[in-house]
Amino acid sequence: MYFEDLSPYRYYADDNCWYEFADDCEFEKLLNIGWLDSNHSFQVGTIDDALFKKLRDLVCCIPKRINIHFARIRGQRPCKLCKAYAKIRCKIGGMRHLGCTELRIPSREQKVVFTSPDMILHYIEEHSYLPPVEFLDALRNFDTSQPFDAEELGKNIIERRVGP
Ligand SMILES: [Zn+2]
Repeated sequence: MYFEDLSPYRYYADDNCWYEFADDCEFEKLLNIGWLDSNHSFQVGTIDDALFKKLRDLVCCIPKRINIHFARIRGQRPCKLCKAYAKIRCKIGGMRHLGCTELRIPSREQKVVFTSPDMILHYIEEHSYLPPVEFLDALRNFDTSQPFDAEELGKNIIERRVGP
């Protein structure tokens, strides 16, 4: 499934729908990041090593008080670019398969939650994908000393619809 970077998140909805947060939530929008495929070009470059490690640790559930995973599927999807079944080495807990969940990275300043496939780690590492600066800023500013639970936050998501 391809979605343009920074477009409104609508994974499970049709073209007239997208998802946002309820009015009393501190966040407003969900935006797509890293939904790549082989039919669409994407920005390439290198990201700061410390930033990559921060994302990798978050995917590895380090620290434990933070859960950025959402919508876990049974099984594993391959990389959309090279068809590999990708995995990463976590500094705690050994290898972890990618292609199983979505990630939610909050930006309190932007009032946005960025939503990406967990394969984004593989896209960055193996295919030199360079996510938009908005996402990298959110990742850099993500305060890992505070608890965060993407599943809990998901309860505040509502569907918006235009047209008939
Ligand atoms: Zn790949």
